[in-house]
Amino acid sequence: MNLTTERKVMKIRDIWEAKKRIAPIVNRTPLIYSAILSEKISRSVYLKLENVHEVGAFKVRGAANKILSLSDEEKKRGVATFSTGNHGMAVAFVAKRLGVNAVVCISNRVPKAKVESLKRLGAQIEIVGDSQDAAGERCYELEKQKGLTVIQPFDDPHVIAGQGTIGLELLEALPNLKDVIVPLSGGGLLSGIGLALKANNPDIRITGVSMEQSAVMYESLKAGKPVKLEESVTLADSLLGGIGLDNQYTFQMVQQYMDDVLLISEDEIAYSMAYMMDKHRIIMEGAAATGIAAVLGNKIPDQDGDLVVIISGHNVDLSILLQLIQKYTDGNEG
Ligand SMILES: *Cc1c(COP(=O)(O)O)cnc(C)c1O
Repeated sequence: MNLTTERKVMKIRDIWEAKKRIAPIVNRTPLIYSAILSEKISRSVYLKLENVHEVGAFKVRGAANKILSLSDEEKKRGVATFSTGNHGMAVAFVAKRLGVNAVVCISNRVPKAKVESLKRLGAQIEIVGDSQDAAGERCYELEKQKGLTVIQPFDDPHVIAGQGTIGLELLEALPNLKDVIVPLSGGGLLSGIGLALKANNPDIRITGVSMEQSAVMYESLKAGKPVKLEESVTLADSLLGGIGLDNQYTFQMVQQYMDDVLLISEDEIAYSMAYMMDKHRIIMEGAAATGIAAVLGNKIPDQDGDLVVIISGHNVDLSILLQLIQKYTDGNEG
């Protein structure tokens, strides 16, 4: 067998299996019709509420599918991650539910509030060095020395399949689905949803949305290969981070499944967060607001059929959200 020519291809079956596997611990999320957004662009707009998961983001789907697919032996040894964001929280949450030991490696720069919420979820914290890279290295050391399994945030077939279960839920709910707008970072979310939808109906259009600065997948697609970028400050902090220079799955899957990609400015993200709180009473983090900005800015080509925005998460500092509400709304009801 020649391993170097092994092709990394996922099948729709992987997502059906994920759906069955995660059902006991991941809730099916609501899909709601948005009258106000539908009126705005004169077509039916639905919101897929991934913000209602207990950890406040869809990443619980991928983490659950990955950890549940480990052998008993691997589960006994435990899992590790160096993400302090939504992925780290999801890994900690799922591991606790399943009685699996989870170690989160973090640098001493990680804000205390984040460390506290990870601890509350039952994760074991290892503080190492003063950079994300040092934390990552420690994670892989734990894998070598203690046999912990490092849970990747996006470039892993079980994680991608877990996120893809969103696509199956959409297909079941909306027979006339035409457009799906998906926040895009490492591309696990878009790859999974893309595979689920296109395998059933290649005419469903998938639009990725990222922030203007440090959109690594966007720049990588333009370059034709994974590239590295400096991170900048953005409201869509959950969309920051590289895609991995030796990316195995998501780069080619995003290339294959994404019909269009839009970059959203910080102002548009900020306005959309305030708008959704004001008009819809839905708390969204910046990453999720990129999709709403695409609708409010009328950036999606006119088509018949239903449009879905994936509301990917709600983990935003409330003081930031309050500032935005004050800045962009007049404070009146509705
Ligand atoms: C991780 C994340 C994304 C992006 O998902 P990828 O699989 O990395 O593309 C979008 N929104 C939120 C809230 C996230 O946590």
